[in-house]
Amino acid sequence: MDKPIIKSARKAAGESTPGQLNESGLIDSMGWLVGVIRKPSPNFNARPAHAAVDLLVIHNISLPPEQFGGAYVDDFFLNQLDTDEHPYFREIEHLQVSAHFFIRRDGQVVQFVSVLDRAWHAGQSEWLGLADCNNYSLGIELEGSDNSLFTELQYQQLVGLTQILRGQFPAITPERIVGHSDIAPGRKTDPGPGFDWLHYRSCLTKSDLHS
Ligand SMILES: [Zn+2]
Repeated sequence: MDKPIIKSARKAAGESTPGQLNESGLIDSMGWLVGVIRKPSPNFNARPAHAAVDLLVIHNISLPPEQFGGAYVDDFFLNQLDTDEHPYFREIEHLQVSAHFFIRRDGQVVQFVSVLDRAWHAGQSEWLGLADCNNYSLGIELEGSDNSLFTELQYQQLVGLTQILRGQFPAITPERIVGHSDIAPGRKTDPGPGFDWLHYRSCLTKSDLHS
């Protein structure tokens, strides 16, 4: 249950400094969100100089595929996957990937890469004519699959997290929140048909109205 954590972080920051990069903000000066679990991944690099952060990409992931719970996704993003644990892990052990955030089924949020840095979540991708979305985006992975629905706790946390990130990066307008499948069509299908965009976007709008 991370909902109280994000809420308390929001409260601690006060209304006057939403997402500011300072000591009292929701995101610290190194680009890490206050109050969530940090598992720094080695899979990142610097964004290109002067790159604006103006895109949010939603994904799903589960390891092994379709199995929820456990720490395999964390291990994967940390290059610590034990390939003896499941045959599928041998297929992906060579990959070096990450996302900025991971939201588990129970709503727990883990951060793997500073929002200031370039996480490796999008791969070959393009949005509105601009290639390599990793350069200018943030990536959030939801624990799930294309064949499952997401939990309400995940939506609540995703909305809270989105608003914090938009406080830091106002150029992430609602129309610049997309799925992995939108920026890598034909290659990627996540977050999949089970992701309720209408619900997510209406929660965002409500949250905007109340802020
Ligand atoms: Zn993805």
